[in-house]
Amino acid sequence: MSKRIQVLDPLLANQIAAGEVVERPSSIVKELIENSRDANAAKIHIDIENGGISSIKIKDDGEGIHREDLIHAVSRHATSKIQTLDDLQTIRSFGFRGEALASISSVSRFRLLSRTKEQTHGFQIEVTGREPEILQSPVSHHVGTSIEVRDVFYNTPARRKFLKTSQTEFNHIMEVVRKMGLSHFGIEFVVKHQQKQILSLPSAVNILEKEKRVAEICGENFIENALRVEIESHDMELSGWFGLPTFSRSQSDLQYIFINGRVVKDKVISHAVRQAYQDVMYQNRHPAYLLYLNILPEFIDVNVHPAKNEVRFRESRNVFDFIMHSVKKTLQHTRPTSVAENKIEPVEIATYARSSDVSSQVSLYSALVNTHPKVANNAATLSLSQKPLVLSSECEKNNNHEHHHDIPALGFALGQLHGVYIVAQNQHGMILVDMHAAHERICYENLKKEYSSRKMSMQTLLIGINISLNKREADCVEEKSELFKKIGFIVEKLTDTAVIVRTVPSLLIQQDIEKLVRALIGDILEHEITDGVDEAINRLLATMSCHHAIRANRQLSLLEMNHLLRQIEKTDHGNQCNHGRPTWTALSLSDLDKIFLRGR
Ligand code: ADP
Ligand code: MG
Repeated sequence: MSKRIQVLDPLLANQIAAGEVVERPSSIVKELIENSRDANAAKIHIDIENGGISSIKIKDDGEGIHREDLIHAVSRHATSKIQTLDDLQTIRSFGFRGEALASISSVSRFRLLSRTKEQTHGFQIEVTGREPEILQSPVSHHVGTSIEVRDVFYNTPARRKFLKTSQTEFNHIMEVVRKMGLSHFGIEFVVKHQQKQILSLPSAVNILEKEKRVAEICGENFIENALRVEIESHDMELSGWFGLPTFSRSQSDLQYIFINGRVVKDKVISHAVRQAYQDVMYQNRHPAYLLYLNILPEFIDVNVHPAKNEVRFRESRNVFDFIMHSVKKTLQHTRPTSVAENKIEPVEIATYARSSDVSSQVSLYSALVNTHPKVANNAATLSLSQKPLVLSSECEKNNNHEHHHDIPALGFALGQLHGVYIVAQNQHGMILVDMHAAHERICYENLKKEYSSRKMSMQTLLIGINISLNKREADCVEEKSELFKKIGFIVEKLTDTAVIVRTVPSLLIQQDIEKLVRALIGDILEHEITDGVDEAINRLLATMSCHHAIRANRQLSLLEMNHLLRQIEKTDHGNQCNHGRPTWTALSLSDLDKIFLRGR
């Protein structure tokens, strides 16, 4: 006979709901911090024992809970944050489902103390058995809320078995706090484990304080190698820090995405970022970034997952494009500025951000570009070898910024080292440039520009070049003849196993064309490149520039070297070659002094 249907006992219902919300102690910490944040707390102190398995205490200085609402706080489907379904459309708080405290208190020994600013005392509620119990006597408590959660899963042994060691559970808790810390700079966080202070993040308001917090959480190295971004469109706002391509990682472990302050995993955004970096990073490397997207709540649905770590965009294409272009633009500005180290500030982007120090950079930058077009285009008219001496002595006398405008960021070449590096000097010290890497980047950017303006300049060969290939390769040439034409090659199939090259891109006229065409065919076959996909075309352009780039051991004149320096300064992504390796680095005089232990 079939069993009869019964309404679930409330405790059991809460425990079942807890299965979704409370996976482990860190999920409790996450829910409690979110509640404190929703109550506008400025300080959140977290005290953990035994990885949170024995005890989690969280104290905040938020708005508190009214005495009469205590019972609702721990009841399922009770929330102060929404009243109608429409409210969900414009939700700005973290909570809204009204089930976290009910779930948590159903699988632990739970106590909550709270006081609102209207009350002179705090009140408390305990849930240790079946029924919540409000303790009638007032307790002394500051305005705000304290919550104690002890013996997690004590009454659900099956789940308790899944808990890991205290250290592992604590690591999960720290990851939760780090994410909250990275998205709520204004809130002070303090974490203790076994009564020992593990983390202390004072409230961070200005950009310097924020960067200090980022350094504390993600490492000094990250912030020193990151570009700051702040860009707005009419309905979205992007900000954050993006690691330089040279700071890439072998894992995607330093990538955080926050949407309206909520940490999320989101494919639309992570793909957009990946695509933006693609041009400047090896395929198997991962960029490091903290990305903050603010978007009108109407444009997203946050209620797609009980733990709310996913969102759905109403117009994901818009979001993708906005993120991709913004990040790409930022990375383009990794060109040399007058900063002594190879730590580059975004030029145009930064005008949105650090207005004060950036305006001087922008004028410096335009001064560089505008006062030196001659150097770049017609280097022969300058007597370069004398210039650095004159300039550096002038700068020492007069430490005025105006004078620095006269010195290009990468300075002037002194000579060549082992046919591989250019040694140059600017007013700060010494610059070393990897000739091949730099030249490769310059060619690549030029080819991209020519390609995208559909004005690839081509040159017809007096005598065509015959290349013998296998059948598959020859077919590829025939099939992709339009694609070849777009990148500057007219290649025709002669026989089943031979082709003839009639026209080549002007830039590459001096190169070993046969070798290059073979490499391009290899690329097309290996990566199944088809026409009309920019990334695919870029791969071919990269191969072309790699073949064109100055090989090691080619002697350059000082003029040629200076010409190259001026070109790097003008080139998008000038600081990295196509594979994300740096093209140049700097050693300031004080760096050199340190090496030689001067002034100690
Ligand atoms: P939700 O956050 O979805 O509303 P919760 O179960 O997490 O549901 O919390 C229930 C209610 O308890 C909240 O709506 C809020 O009114 C109150 N509350 C919980 N924690 C705090 C806190 N730290 N400070 C003030 N109010 C709180
Ligand atoms: Mg909540």
